[in-house]
This record gives sequence, structure tokens and C-alpha cells, in this order.
Amino acid sequence: MIIEIPSQVNKALSILSAAGYEAYVVGGAVRDAVMGRPVNDWDVTTSAMPQETEAAFEGFKVIETGIKHGTVTVIIDSCHIEITTFRIDGGYSDNRHPDYVEFTDDITLDLSRRDFTCNAVAYSPEKGFKDPFGGVEDIKNGVIRCVGEPDIRFHEDGLRILRALRFSRTLGFDIDAGTAQSIHRCVHLLSNISSERIMAELLRMIPYCGMDFLDEYSDVIFEIIPELKSEKGCAQNHERHIYDVWLHSCRAVEASPADAEIRLAALLHDIGKPSCKSTDENGVDHFYSHGKAGAAITADIMNRLKTSGRLKRKIVNLIEYHDFLPEKISDKTFRKYIGILGEETIRALFAIREADIRAQNPAFLEEGLRANEEGMRRFEEILSRENCFKISDLAAKGGELIAAGLPQGPAIGKIHLALFDEVISGTLPNEKEALINRAKELYENGDY
Ligand code: ATP
Ligand code: MG
Repeated sequence: MIIEIPSQVNKALSILSAAGYEAYVVGGAVRDAVMGRPVNDWDVTTSAMPQETEAAFEGFKVIETGIKHGTVTVIIDSCHIEITTFRIDGGYSDNRHPDYVEFTDDITLDLSRRDFTCNAVAYSPEKGFKDPFGGVEDIKNGVIRCVGEPDIRFHEDGLRILRALRFSRTLGFDIDAGTAQSIHRCVHLLSNISSERIMAELLRMIPYCGMDFLDEYSDVIFEIIPELKSEKGCAQNHERHIYDVWLHSCRAVEASPADAEIRLAALLHDIGKPSCKSTDENGVDHFYSHGKAGAAITADIMNRLKTSGRLKRKIVNLIEYHDFLPEKISDKTFRKYIGILGEETIRALFAIREADIRAQNPAFLEEGLRANEEGMRRFEEILSRENCFKISDLAAKGGELIAAGLPQGPAIGKIHLALFDEVISGTLPNEKEALINRAKELYENGDY
């Protein structure tokens, strides 16, 4: 098998080889090329020391990207190529970072520090494959397998647990049984991993996660988000449901579009249910106000996982309002929701509601989808017909009311609020003149 390497990368390999060093493409590039997928970054690994690499590329632009770890970036015909010296990572006392890195001239040692066999293959047009761990075979069979003893590798760096799950989903690979068993033994090591890294991996994998996978690795998910644990076994004795809260949520993720943020909201959407559960005299379960309760729990989770303010607001809003019934609420309430949540979040709400319906009793599927579509139709209709969803959307601003003769002061704010209420109730058009006339009338009536 031959790998097609872009000319700039080939040039880098030839330059290193001509200077007397070994050089290969390695890692994700080889994996993706063997799979016949497009390659994003061509990483090069070499026996040359970082200074030797810099010297070999005299005349080219070279950036000392991570000289401590042996990485320099060479720019050839505007292509950025990361070139890293063969290295061994040693001592992982924090279960995350190597205590030291040591350079070596042995490619096999470099490959042995890499996480999974599919990421531990090197290739050069001159020497062909360097594949001491059977990586090409595992790529062909679609298997994620640790290089070496899984328990040792996960103890070195707990992030590898999430990388295993993520590569498995994004590449469509199975996780080898020994590696999977080790993941279950090692989940506690995730407590050593920074929230940012955890969140980044979760967002990368969730678009590709289905119900069975999430349930198989529920221990990993619960380690990251312990608040979800009480969903497992939380029965929903209700005609609309066929799963407990956990499996229903996993199924909702699977039924959601492949959008990381919508899927994260789907995973968390019923997190308020266990604490809101009640059972009526007929034995039917209810979960009153679980959206609000779930929003509060979600805000804590987002803070702990250090997500951006934007993402936190979006997910919390989606959880709080996921049960809104857009086919039933009044036009006025709909307009208010549009004002509070914004168009993008409302669209996401429809997607989550659809996934929610698809994760419930199929006997109600058609009816549910029809209702959701009716809500979407109303949403589009209101959006296309109207332009006032927030006070700031009013066609007459405070300054214009004052210019029209109303006195400056707190009354203006109150009158503005009253105008907004009438506009979104549909009793007053959002037109400047109409608003000013109505404002004068309200003021002259002496109510404000
Ligand atoms: P992606 O397509 O996600 O970039 P990749 O395989 O290139 O996939 P990177 O995170 O860019 O992954 O890392 C490049 C290579 O470095 C990997 O293929 C692997 O060989 C090695 N590597 C990266 N992170 C680790 C880790 N935590 N432990 C061991 N090896 C790692
Ligand atoms: Mg990469």
C-alpha cells in the first residue's frame, strides 16, 4: 500500500533524509490516509534533534512551536508542517502530563508512547510502514486498542479514556475488549483531567454517539457529569414513555441532529426529573417543573465544566424551555419567547422537542411530530409577519417619545413597557406614529 503525500510534506521528508536523518509521516495523517479519508494535518516525526531540524531547513521559515517537546513548524510553499523529534515520554505523576520527555533515535520507541495502535503507525515513501503494534490491521478492522497495557496507559494519562471514546465514534471503530474493560476500571482517573479538555472531547464525540454507546459508557459520562447518575433506574410510569429517564435521554441524543450543542442539551434535558418525580393515586409518574429544576442543575454543571458564557446560556435556556408547547401557547407568549430566547435557540428547541418525541412511546410519534411541525409553522409565520419581540424592537424609542412631548423621567420606561405589552398582545401596531399617539393617550389618562 502506498500513501499519497502532498508535495510540500514529501519535500520535508526528502530534506531530512538527504541530511542523514530518518523521517516519517505519523499519527492521525497515516491513520486517515490508510482509511482513505482526507488528511487535515500531516505530522512528521524525525530522528533529527530540534536544532538539527532547524539547520536542515535553513532558508525556509521555521517556527519553534514547542521546542521543549521537540516540535518545530516548517513552512513550505505556505504549508505548515509540524516536525517532532522521536521521543519517549517518562513518568506521569499527575496522571496527565509526562514529567519529562527524552529524545531518542529509535522510531519504535516513539511509536510506543502513542495512545492507540491506529495512531502509532509511521510511513515514509522510502521505508514504507513502521508498524510495530499492528496498527494498520486495527485500522482495517476498525479497532481502537491501546499501545501496550491499557491500565498503565490510562494511568499515565486519563484523557486517553475520552480520546478512545471519541476516536471510536468519529472513526466508526469498536473499542477492543481489553481496552474497554480497562476504561471501566480507570474512569476515576478522569478526575485528574481539566474541565476544558473534558468538555472539548465531549463536544467532539457527542454528534456521533448513539443510545447503546452512551449506555455502555454511562460510567464515563457519570464521572464527568455525576448529576446524571440518578436518571439511571428513574422509571417513568407514563403512557408516553418506554424508557427510564437515562435511556430516554440517550435515545434523545441519538435522535438529535449531529450538532454538538443541541446534543449536549438533549443529554441533559431531563436532568431535573429525578428530583421532581411524584406518583399519583393511579401509579402514574409526573415530573412537574423539571425544566426549571434542570436549568438550575445545568447551570452548576456548565460552571464546573468552565464552558463559555454563551454556551452556558444556550444550554440552560434549552433545558428550561424544552417542554414548551409551541402549538398550544398564545401568539403573545410565543412572541415573548422569541424575544427572550432568540431565533437560534427557538430553532434548537424544536430540534430537541422532535428528538424528545422520537425517544418516547412510538404510539405517540406521529401525533407528537405533527404538533411540533405545527409549532414550527407558527414560528415561521410570526417571524415573517412581525418585527417586535423585545422592548428594544419598538418602532418608537424613549427619545422619540420625549421629542413628541412626553416628560423625561421614570414614566417613560413604564409607558414603553405598556406599549410593548400591547404590541405583543396584537392590539397595537408596531408603528412609530401609532406608538407615539398611544403613549400620549396613556400619559394623559394619568395612569403613568
Ligand atoms: P485528530 O484527527 O483528532 O487530530 P490525531 O491522531 O492527529 O487525530 P492529535 O491529538 O492531533 O490526534 O495527536 C497527534 C498524535 O499524537 C496522535 O495520533 C497520537 O499518536 C499522539 N497523541 C496525541 N495525544 C496523545 C495522548 N494523550 N497520549 C498518547 N499519544 C497521544
Ligand atoms: Mg491531529
